[in-house]
Amino acid sequence: MDKDKIRNFAIIAHIDHGKSTLADRFLEITNTLPKDKIKEQTLDRMDLERERGITIKLAPARMNWKGYELNLIDTPGHVDFTYEVSRSLAAVEGAILVVDGTQGIQAQTLTNLYLASDQSLEIIPVINKVDLPGAEVDRVSQEIINLLNISKDEILLASAKEGKGITQILDKIIEKVPAPQSSEKQVKALIFDSNFNNYKGVVTFIRVKSGQIKKGDKICFMATGKAAEALEVGYLNPDFISTGKIEEGEIGYLVTGLKDVSEAKVGDTITVLNDDEKMSKEALPGYKQIKPFVYASLYSTSGEPNELREALEKLKLNDASLTFEPETSPALGSGFRVGFLGLLHLDIIRERLEREFNQDLIITTPSVSYKIIMQDGSEYIINSANEMPTPGTFQEIQEPIVKLEIITPSNHMGPVMELVQSRRGDYKALDYIDSKTALIIYEIPLSEIIVDFYDELKSVSSGYASLNYEFTDFKKADLVKLDILIAGDVIPPLAVIIPREKSLYIGRGVVKKLKETIPRQLFEVSLQAAIGSKVLAREDVPPLRKDVTAKLYGGDVTRKRKLLEKQKKGKKRMKRFGKIDIPQEAFLSILKR
Ligand code: GDP
Ligand code: MG
Repeated sequence: MDKDKIRNFAIIAHIDHGKSTLADRFLEITNTLPKDKIKEQTLDRMDLERERGITIKLAPARMNWKGYELNLIDTPGHVDFTYEVSRSLAAVEGAILVVDGTQGIQAQTLTNLYLASDQSLEIIPVINKVDLPGAEVDRVSQEIINLLNISKDEILLASAKEGKGITQILDKIIEKVPAPQSSEKQVKALIFDSNFNNYKGVVTFIRVKSGQIKKGDKICFMATGKAAEALEVGYLNPDFISTGKIEEGEIGYLVTGLKDVSEAKVGDTITVLNDDEKMSKEALPGYKQIKPFVYASLYSTSGEPNELREALEKLKLNDASLTFEPETSPALGSGFRVGFLGLLHLDIIRERLEREFNQDLIITTPSVSYKIIMQDGSEYIINSANEMPTPGTFQEIQEPIVKLEIITPSNHMGPVMELVQSRRGDYKALDYIDSKTALIIYEIPLSEIIVDFYDELKSVSSGYASLNYEFTDFKKADLVKLDILIAGDVIPPLAVIIPREKSLYIGRGVVKKLKETIPRQLFEVSLQAAIGSKVLAREDVPPLRKDVTAKLYGGDVTRKRKLLEKQKKGKKRMKRFGKIDIPQEAFLSILKR
């Protein structure tokens, strides 16, 4: 295809504003997919994505429109996947910024917009969902005008659901988005996604920035140094269409023959090896090794730990950002300490382990990584409270700090700010998106927002506030390890690292909540929160007295059996530590306030 006739663009938006639905309409109107093949959110390939209505993996598709080749990338609108979105945006020349007409600009809208501006993309703003009676086109237009510094007639109106305004968007893409350009001879292709396909092995989604890659070319991944062969190249519509070559300016896929996605990382550059003149010495900018920030321990309550390991290994085939290690302490039973990009990522992995691999899991309260500075100045990262060295043996402990952006209607600002301040938030700036919408910026420890912050934020703002965050730095803090003892035994997976100033308050809260979740035993069970040998709080679970079925007088055997069965089910999600079965809720209640 003539480069002048190519348009590469991404769709960006806050979650749920209608990206995937809009992508469906594009595929339909351009006859890329026949109408009867379009399910809702076609590009969301995983069942999980479709059910929950979220986009987890990026999905490219090629369409033809009025003699032009349009390459579209749908992106996930969630903070956990910001890096991947940034690499998608580096693969295109334009972006459609979708804003829900009933919601207006939200935190992730802004983040995406910054990322798009970083790449100097042409932005096409679209107000979606104008079919809904609650759509406030004028107000949302004003927000977009303030933000993008454009005139009102540049904003397109659409209903992705009803298929209104779609052709205008496609026309605008042809008119506004620049054709791809390059003046280089060397072959450079940017990987903006890579995944594992059961039949093809590792498949990368790429944007060829310069040169071309043909089937059979010897290729190299510049960041990992891995060599491979281009076994198959082509484009997606969204099925694989093999073409034998992929050229400068195009977006497509490349089958690598590799078995491990971590050898073909998002953001890496592919070049060719067989031709000295075409081999690039310099990689494309922007590659980052992404690190997990949120950790939790996973225990299987049912199967063998080996099954859990195999399941994690299978998931890792498709997810280079997933990391896990067996937990070493014998007291823990056999589990894994797993690293995630964030809470959504954790939730997705948990659900996939349960659904696709039949794992019954206990998951501990998520925590962050900490940096330990030793007496001699050396430093290392710990990913679990149990790795914290004994107080006095190290110089300091540092915790990850994020820049937190919250967008909220200004009438909810008071409670929102109170919430953030109660979580050790450090106020930085306040801005107005329009007369009724504020953008508040804080620095805050990541640990303060990973557990139940999002729900709290929604509740204090009647559901209107949205947030986004970005790691900035590790900072010194006065932190201690809080141990939880049940029936006198320290239960390592329940240990947490918390600020010393809040330890009494948190310790009391934890044992109170544990009391509600630990099932009664035949004996009294003590619950204690302690720092080292100092007990901060104690509660006791009174012993069980009655037979649960005793009150079912008469001899209704089926009812009795049902009740016992129900009990058995309830028991399933428990893990035995010493003498006590600890249910899943106990773990999750630890840091809830
Ligand atoms: P994404 O998270 O940005 O990909 O959003 P989706 O495309 O998954 O859409 C989120 C929800 O909004 C879905 O329930 C869609 O059916 C709905 N939706 C999307 N576009 C429209 C629209 O134009 N009008 C209405 N009424 N609903 C829409
Ligand atoms: Mg989506």
